[in-house]
Amino acid sequence: MSQDKPTVLVTGGAGYIGSHAVLALQQAGFEVIVLDNLVYGHRDLIEQVLQVKLVVGDTTDRPLLDQLFSSHSIAAVMHFAAFAYVGESVTDPAKYYRNNVMGTLSLLEAMQAADVKRFVFSSTCATYGIPKSSPIPEDHPQHPINPYGASKLMVERMLPDFDVAHGLKSVCFRYFNAAGADPQGRLGEDHQPETHLIPLVLQTALGKRSHISVFGTDYPTPDGTCVRDYIHVLDLAAAHVLGLQRLLDGGDSDIFNLGNGNGFSVKQVIEAARRITGREIPVVECDRRPGDPPALVGSSDRARTLLGWQPQYADLDQILTHAWHWHQQRHG
Ligand code: UDP
Repeated sequence: MSQDKPTVLVTGGAGYIGSHAVLALQQAGFEVIVLDNLVYGHRDLIEQVLQVKLVVGDTTDRPLLDQLFSSHSIAAVMHFAAFAYVGESVTDPAKYYRNNVMGTLSLLEAMQAADVKRFVFSSTCATYGIPKSSPIPEDHPQHPINPYGASKLMVERMLPDFDVAHGLKSVCFRYFNAAGADPQGRLGEDHQPETHLIPLVLQTALGKRSHISVFGTDYPTPDGTCVRDYIHVLDLAAAHVLGLQRLLDGGDSDIFNLGNGNGFSVKQVIEAARRITGREIPVVECDRRPGDPPALVGSSDRARTLLGWQPQYADLDQILTHAWHWHQQRHG
């Protein structure tokens, strides 16, 4: 390992956002080790596409973490490993608190023991709950309305305390809705089970599903369906590299929203997908899904100003086009 190529431990690197971050780290010249329990992650993406060292295991496995940190010179940790199904978090909260909160605590303790002091954390706009203003700035009050958001907020609360007590510097990113795929088709979104809107819409376009269910048409939004801020996964990955670099350059802990600042309703996403795929996408209107705020749109001015982050794929049509190519290739 050379001096100029610091090693980054990426937890959840076999997952959707984590795998795109691994690719961005490789392109930026970092060495990467992935820790992933493969509950939702994909071994083939690591072994065939990214070709980095994969350690199969859990963030709650402290002996494994200690062994990992003692056998490698790790400069920083990027922590993506988490359960992220909003609906499931409502019906099985313990699963979320155990993995997302206890797993992260175990990771932070292992980092502290190994004297690793730089941490990039995947948080979420779900920590805001139902926003009082839009677009949402980082200093907006955080009152999550589902256990997934609460579990991420608990970690956010820990980070300043670890900074004060142990000098652990963190960059925390609150993502809006990650979407899209590597434009070259190497990586993309492949959740099992899939619950996210864009992949489900595209699977419907492919004929793999009979229809897309629209969860709620009576929200206080222009067309009654939920509004979200869709952000390209490559733009998220690029922000992570910038955040990491900031910490490696001696920067202080900070928190950044990552979104495009444009809201699209569920119906608008489906309409755009019909246009881009040229396929029929039958819709069934259903009840609201528990835990869904009506609208989540973020202000990412801080990331632009302080990190120099410049989203490259802000256009929803482009996000959908990249996702469509991936889905045709992976599931077509
Ligand atoms: N949604 C929907 N039908 C689906 C999946 C999602 O209407 O089959 C809606 C969901 O209620 C939310 C939006 O699409 O308002 C985005 O949901 P997703 O699960 O993709 O992301 P989330 O906002 O939960 O992170």
